[in-house]
Amino acid sequence: MTKKLSPATLCVQGGWTPTKGEPRVLPIIQSTTFKYDTSEQMAQLFDLEAEGYFYTRLQNPTNDAVAAKIAALEGGVAAMLTSSGQAANFYAIFNICQAGDHFVSTSSIYGGTYNLFAVTMRKLGIEVTFVDQDADDATILAAFQPNTKLLFGETIANPGCSVLDIERMARLAHSQGVPLIIDNTFATPINCRPFEWGCDIITHSTTKYMDGHATAVGGAIVDSGNFDWEAYHDRFACLTEPDESYHGLVYTQRFGKLAYITKATSQVMRDLGSIQSPQNAFLLNIGLETLHLRMERHCYNAQRVAEYLCHNERVAWVRYSGLPGDKYYDLGQKYLPNGSCGVIAFGLKGGRDVSIRFMDNLKLAAIVTHVADARTCVLHPASHTHRQLSDEQLRDAGVEPDLIRLSVGIEDVDDIIADLQQAMDA
Ligand SMILES: *Cc1c(COP(=O)(O)O)cnc(C)c1O
Repeated sequence: MTKKLSPATLCVQGGWTPTKGEPRVLPIIQSTTFKYDTSEQMAQLFDLEAEGYFYTRLQNPTNDAVAAKIAALEGGVAAMLTSSGQAANFYAIFNICQAGDHFVSTSSIYGGTYNLFAVTMRKLGIEVTFVDQDADDATILAAFQPNTKLLFGETIANPGCSVLDIERMARLAHSQGVPLIIDNTFATPINCRPFEWGCDIITHSTTKYMDGHATAVGGAIVDSGNFDWEAYHDRFACLTEPDESYHGLVYTQRFGKLAYITKATSQVMRDLGSIQSPQNAFLLNIGLETLHLRMERHCYNAQRVAEYLCHNERVAWVRYSGLPGDKYYDLGQKYLPNGSCGVIAFGLKGGRDVSIRFMDNLKLAAIVTHVADARTCVLHPASHTHRQLSDEQLRDAGVEPDLIRLSVGIEDVDDIIADLQQAMDA
């Protein structure tokens, strides 16, 4: 499959190109293991000297086909699927950080990622400094230390809906000799391709729009192949110096542009093992086949709903970058010209209690922990996903106490608006 195909075509046909007599649909290779004829053949696989499948924890043909589709959609060199978005963000960082290292992250990020960074990674000896993504260059640069290994952010923050200035973040990260890692879950490669703006590594919770039907939890890491690890040889010794667990193999020497993603697969995944099941990869692939159509509809519906909310006297505030006058409108026009996603953040006059009562009165929109799938749903982050955060952490994460996260689905938009209206009236 050539690189020139458009995203829509890649969604439908990318990753799996059957030859004569092979199934038209990507098969589920439900096998833990793969057969070889000689002991020597197997030994070469273990030493990464030959390419081939031998154990599904390392690689599986179904997963590889789906990873290849996602890599093509993002314009990267390769991708790896993980069991969840949490695993993707953890592995993406752990691949180049160890105890004693440090990284910088924007503070408006998904609550689960915030906990991972602020609590669990600290227990592993990896420190994080959170920065306000809208702070000036000098303030953000002040967070960097000699042992800083990367800068992290979300294209569209969950749930605050702020838009990241990717080009500026890439410039800042590169000025410090570290890669920019972006969680592109909400935008998806249909609406934003961060590599085109200088981002080096992309992560996804494929659980959201990519799957799109709320059927399979999953994640992905995509490597642009662009970061020059050798230019900062000592800082990234994990990639540029011999790996003891592979008889002294050096990832950058052996794999070049594929060094980062090969290490993620052959070392981090080998040792920690949060693989996506081939069954879930199959479901994800079916979701990806319609991603381009669904994103268009999510954006159309969300724009209409955001405009409705904006003009409703009971609504205190609305955050949706597609609204002229929104704080992130200009960044949205630059990075998300075809639309952002289906997620809108807003608050009702009367604050937290009114917001909760409103949600309880919704009929079509369900209260679920999920976000970003075909069905309209709502969540009150301060009571749910971000429950573990203090008021100060909530504010840092861009979550007002009255914030309602509305994930607009692909139903008829008039029905969605009618449901919101009846809940407001009640
Ligand atoms: C949901 C989500 C995650 C976590 O993904 P899971 O698949 O639930 O583990 C990470 N980042 C963002 C932006 C998310 O929305």
